[in-house]
Amino acid sequence: MEKTAELVQKKTDLKSLSKEELSEFLKEMGLVSYRADQVFQWLYQKGVSSFDEMTNLSKDLRQKLSEKAVIRRAKEFQRQESKDGTIKFLFQLDDPSDYKVEAVMIPDFYDDGEANRLTVCVSSQVGCMFGCSFCATGKMGYFRNLTHGEIVDQVQTINELTEERFGKKITNIVYMGMGEPLHNYKAVTESVRIISDPLGIELSPRRITISTVGLTKQIKQLADEDLGSNLAISLHAADDEKRNKIMPINESLNLEKLEEAVRYYYKKNEKPFTYEYLLFDEFNDTAADAKNLVKIARWVPSKVNIIMYNNVAGVALQRAREDRLNAFMRILAKNHVTATVRRSRGDDIDAGCGQLAIREGQERGKSLAKV
Ligand code: SF4
Repeated sequence: MEKTAELVQKKTDLKSLSKEELSEFLKEMGLVSYRADQVFQWLYQKGVSSFDEMTNLSKDLRQKLSEKAVIRRAKEFQRQESKDGTIKFLFQLDDPSDYKVEAVMIPDFYDDGEANRLTVCVSSQVGCMFGCSFCATGKMGYFRNLTHGEIVDQVQTINELTEERFGKKITNIVYMGMGEPLHNYKAVTESVRIISDPLGIELSPRRITISTVGLTKQIKQLADEDLGSNLAISLHAADDEKRNKIMPINESLNLEKLEEAVRYYYKKNEKPFTYEYLLFDEFNDTAADAKNLVKIARWVPSKVNIIMYNNVAGVALQRAREDRLNAFMRILAKNHVTATVRRSRGDDIDAGCGQLAIREGQERGKSLAKV
């Protein structure tokens, strides 16, 4: 692989181009249009790392391409497997940096042990600048955005594993790994298009969920696009005072602004929303919190995922106790809020987002809480 910075800079990284840009690039090289589909398929359906693997292109054509372009592919660097089947991957990015990002595969099994849902949580940025107090990635700071190719690479690599191990592909994707997806809007939306493209990964966008801390401008932008994926809000507190304490973004984009964006999105899409709510012991798990959450769940048709927190070293907030969870859930049920408890997975590995990358020495980049 051509790794020197000089070479990489001179050539075009094909996986940083959108489908249309790729087509244009190949057209400028004199290739007829069906060649663009073939190259796209090699890049995203077959996940090749070199032009030599594109065997339905002539040798001359492959040579021509390798003079003008490069294919970067993020590579698996490390893997941790939990007793419950959860697998955490650390990916090394294919550039001169030493940056690494995480992805997690969370399997669900039928009673007979056959794999049912295979959900993958992908990263969209190296680090994150939003500094949520409960999040290991937030402590790392922000380094850079991933390209859409680097996002798709995570999915491709894990697809190869699930096909080999379970005889089937990934069934669901959530953008809830390292980074704030809507802060890397262009690459994230392009990656959704490629993942759902019949010549790409071919996973229905209905099985893809983008999660955001509540970037209202981008929520509205997404509402105006026809991506077909789902949107989830990482809420984690149901009043401004508490949310300000744990999510600095709420100081500039508070719940009132979030409500306006959520209503706008729903008006355009008429798709139920999901709210993610990490339940922290004696912080956001009181009856008053549950009642505030009921009010938010009524903004537009929605459901709530109550997530049991994977405790993170150095974070004072702790996973809520079972009795407090039960009382909280009773209030939601009494008020007809559709709510599900998501138990933490991979407790015996570094499953909390960002933990593995921090362990691997990715320490501190830029941070701010302004967009
Ligand atoms: S929770 Fe999400 S937005 Fe907040 S710091 Fe972590 S990665 Fe960033």
